[in-house]
Amino acid sequence: MNRMQNIIVIFSIFVFAVLVITVWRSGTTAQNHSGLSNPQETQMAEKIVKSDEEWRRILTPEQYRVTRQKGTEPPFSGKYYDFKEKGTYQCVACGQDLFSSEAKFDSGSGWPSFWAPIAERNIQTVRDRSYGISRTEVLCSRCGAHLGHVFKDGPPPTRLRYCINSVALKFVGNQEKEAE
Ligand code: FE
Repeated sequence: MNRMQNIIVIFSIFVFAVLVITVWRSGTTAQNHSGLSNPQETQMAEKIVKSDEEWRRILTPEQYRVTRQKGTEPPFSGKYYDFKEKGTYQCVACGQDLFSSEAKFDSGSGWPSFWAPIAERNIQTVRDRSYGISRTEVLCSRCGAHLGHVFKDGPPPTRLRYCINSVALKFVGNQEKEAE
């Protein structure tokens, strides 16, 4: 083969690889596992990136410790573990909708617990091997705030338990939400 043919072959392989990756990615992200009876429309804005200094300014020391330094609030200490109002829990750092009161349940753990996020795309999960334990960390997909962890011992329909720090959340009641 001459040089031109080589270039064409390499270019074709590259285009094919890009196509395969694009199709594969759209297939894995399009699934909705939320299992909510009535999935609400939620907006997802562009990613929010701020410097450490900016986050320190915006957040309280406890919010900063949990959301930016992957901390954990003591169990039975937060304001939402025993909270039963109807509404939406947003990210305390960026305001993105994260969980609905519809999917909240009493896990007895001392942390607010949900069996599904309001929309899969509003959270991000990452394998966490800190403290010698393998867990799945849950983050806000918009600003990267650490929210908590997800475990496979939740109730139906998903059997998942999103164990979330109250301090990473901001509750907005249904009426307040409509007024937004
Ligand atoms: Fe956020």
